[in-house]
Amino acid sequence: MQLEQKFREILKKIKAYNYVFSIVGWDSNTEAPRESFKRRSEMMGILSKELFAIETAKETIEVVNELYDNLSELDDHLQREVKKAKKSLDKIINIPEEEYVEFMQLIQMSQLVWEDAKKNNDYNSYKENLKQIIDFTKKFALYYAPDQDPYNTLLDDFEEGMSTKEYDEFFTVLKKDLVPFVKKVLKVAKNDYKKFINDSYDPKKQEEFCDYLIDVMKFNRNRGLMKKSVHPFTWNTSPEDVRFTTRYLENYVFSSIFAAIHELGHATYEQQISTEFDDTLLNGGTSMGIHESQSRFYENTVGRSEAFWETHFDKFKELFPEQSVGLTANDMYRAVNFVEASLIRVEADELTYPLHIMLRYDIERKIMAGEVSVDELPELWNDLMEQYLGIRPENDSDGVLQDVHWSGGMIGYFPTYALGSAYSAQIYYTMIKDLDLDEIIKNNELEKVNEWLKERIHKFGSSKTPKEILEDVTGEEFNAKYYVQFLMEKYSKLYL
Ligand SMILES: [Zn+2]
Repeated sequence: MQLEQKFREILKKIKAYNYVFSIVGWDSNTEAPRESFKRRSEMMGILSKELFAIETAKETIEVVNELYDNLSELDDHLQREVKKAKKSLDKIINIPEEEYVEFMQLIQMSQLVWEDAKKNNDYNSYKENLKQIIDFTKKFALYYAPDQDPYNTLLDDFEEGMSTKEYDEFFTVLKKDLVPFVKKVLKVAKNDYKKFINDSYDPKKQEEFCDYLIDVMKFNRNRGLMKKSVHPFTWNTSPEDVRFTTRYLENYVFSSIFAAIHELGHATYEQQISTEFDDTLLNGGTSMGIHESQSRFYENTVGRSEAFWETHFDKFKELFPEQSVGLTANDMYRAVNFVEASLIRVEADELTYPLHIMLRYDIERKIMAGEVSVDELPELWNDLMEQYLGIRPENDSDGVLQDVHWSGGMIGYFPTYALGSAYSAQIYYTMIKDLDLDEIIKNNELEKVNEWLKERIHKFGSSKTPKEILEDVTGEEFNAKYYVQFLMEKYSKLYL
């Protein structure tokens, strides 16, 4: 079909631009010197404009709309591609250009304003930016879907098919069952491993251990590599080029280990997607939530298991004999699962983490419903912190100012973090019907787990929706009870 051919041509050109942006992005996040920033943003600015022109060209809009009008004549994969293309096109072209430009400038500026506000514990200097971001975000969501709750539009942006209805149900389960359980655990959890955890660990040796983990996870080195960066992330242009980073903190060795395993989870997903989708819109993982389910599965279910440290503690000891003197694999298992009420989300443990997300969801929901003003946010944040975790931030830097997301215009993103962990638990209970996970970990055969996930989740890329993936894998709809069950089983055994 001629129209499809035209669609492919445009898409390939867009992909070529994005390929270059990706490579430059990788470079700027890992190797590029500080002062390369100015020249790079000038060059990228020129290319971004060109790309935007192609994406919103009359021809592009015509091709997409025409295909969309004849949707029923297209095969399944092309249908999904066209729906995706139409959705992202509609999101852009319904916004008046000058408003879009204004918003992009606001976002750029707000990054710096937020950084300073966080550094100086000065929420007031940032709240006007935040208010404008909220107003724009709402307005844009309403341009796209005038009859829909704008928060639902945003939630669907970050996790297709999710709305406040599903998330309300999810967080109600957590509130009812998990919050009291966490309180019980927090009462008895004492950190006996503080000295060990915060001892000094040579970054070079940490890197050696992370390199060892690449082989433990059976990551394909011919299609990927590991570097370091301030904020760990996974990057890819295709399944044949998937890279990730970790970071080395001298006094917190777990940071490098679990960031590496987490990112290896994301990276393995990307590596195992079928290359047949490379030139389509169905490449890459299907959603934030499903992606996070894979990284959390490897990080927490595999990496924080007893079997994992029974198998790999010897290697750790070999690299860090002084720090781990007198400790057993079981000590390591307990140390990596230490639970504590803490103020900062990114430092939170597996058990308390979802409560940090629940708080953000509650707040975003009120923000988008217009039930809370930016003036009231710090107080609301602190009150909820006290309610869920029993602690209260002493300053806004440890409270409402701690995350970068809102200043980047990302409202509706947070819930996918908790959702990912919950998906992961549901997938886990299906997996263990087929596989003896502990045995596999002990035999150092994680390729079997990779294969299981590849056949059921990874290889499909974005050709299935998150809902379809979850239902096809587990045989049922999303159900939060598995997540609560998983956490209660694990942490009762550890602490109660
Ligand atoms: Zn992640």
